[in-house]
Amino acid sequence: MIKAMNYNISEIRKEFPALFQKIYNKPLVYLDNAATTQKPRIVIEAIKHYYEKQNSNIHRGAHYLSQQATEAFEATRNIIANYINSQHSYEVIFVKGATEGINLVAQSYGNVFVNENDEIIVSELEHHSNIVPWQMLCEAKGAKLKVLPINEDGSIKIEKLDELISPKTKIIAVTHISNSLGTILPVKKIIDKAHQYNIPVLIDGAQGIVHSKVDVKELDCDFYCFSGHKFYAPMGIGIVYGKEKWLDKMQPYQGGGEMIKEVTFEKTTYNDLPFKFEAGTPNVSGALGLGKAVEFISSISIDNIAKYENSITDYATSKLKKIEGIKIYGTNEDKASVISFLIDGIHPYDLGTIIDKMGIAVRTGHHCAQPVMDFYKIPGTVRASFAMYNNQQDVDLFVEALKKAVEMLR
Ligand code: PMP
Repeated sequence: MIKAMNYNISEIRKEFPALFQKIYNKPLVYLDNAATTQKPRIVIEAIKHYYEKQNSNIHRGAHYLSQQATEAFEATRNIIANYINSQHSYEVIFVKGATEGINLVAQSYGNVFVNENDEIIVSELEHHSNIVPWQMLCEAKGAKLKVLPINEDGSIKIEKLDELISPKTKIIAVTHISNSLGTILPVKKIIDKAHQYNIPVLIDGAQGIVHSKVDVKELDCDFYCFSGHKFYAPMGIGIVYGKEKWLDKMQPYQGGGEMIKEVTFEKTTYNDLPFKFEAGTPNVSGALGLGKAVEFISSISIDNIAKYENSITDYATSKLKKIEGIKIYGTNEDKASVISFLIDGIHPYDLGTIIDKMGIAVRTGHHCAQPVMDFYKIPGTVRASFAMYNNQQDVDLFVEALKKAVEMLR
């Protein structure tokens, strides 16, 4: 049983209209939250309000609506800066999502600081979004990607970090929480170790921001990237936090409107932070939605959400363990909200397809983390991932559906 706590799950669920629909005439059980979360009413309303009352291009117009939209957009930057406790709000850059954020840092930092034969360290747990941008950079610069390996339980071999770091290491990029296994990485330890050698660290926070309190000052990370859409906010908006000392020295990622100070055919000078990295019209409604998501999350408290999600994950784990032939991948104690598993002799895709017809949404496949699947020598897993609104009934329906599917497939 889930322990009672000061957490009103039925009131929270009511805020998410998408949860109250039927799929194939069955109540929706949404357990694909690591891919994207559903949105609370307050976020949906913010988008609607923006397009009904505020829609205008920002920073450029002298007219009323443009000023209103600009103020709202910049106020949101402050909300995010406060939430993650960044020193300055201009260290918060709006991007499309974690992927774009990591690409921005790889290109903008890489162009200035990474040269031939330099080295970049990532972990074996990374999402492709925190591998490929670095590989592209390595290819362009003749640099080398090094990999921090993992243990059988899905934790990283932190003790290997010392061996991997060399005078050639120019950046370490690791995930905060693994999307494929749920492992929580000891990011503070990694950052402290890297800083002993003056190496900056980028944290891929696509999952981390959703399940833990992120304080960039306390972490002392150099970059922290995340997407809005996994964090109860709209798609197409995300954040790069970067320390001023790096952002100042980095080259713009894209050229165009807003990132310039002056343009002539002979020479262009760049705008100040954060605008230097925000070329083109941004996703204003998405940003405002993200601000509202932060407000909503803060009203419940991320610590309460994380505690609740842990209890749901534990409950689901104990029920799943009773299914014959199940193997759970990612058994390290420090894990959050994800259960990745296989059932003996059954292809994950078949399981996912059958339970989908019973109203259960889970993810099957490699979860954009093929190296993790290669480590376990499997093609993929079934992944159930939990959010603040999943209840015990969701887990019960999921496990029942799974048992039925196993019966059918065996
Ligand atoms: N990193 C991690 C750990 C993720 O889980 C994801 C999304 N699955 C990403 C990066 C990429 O996020 P997005 O597709 O929103 O850019």
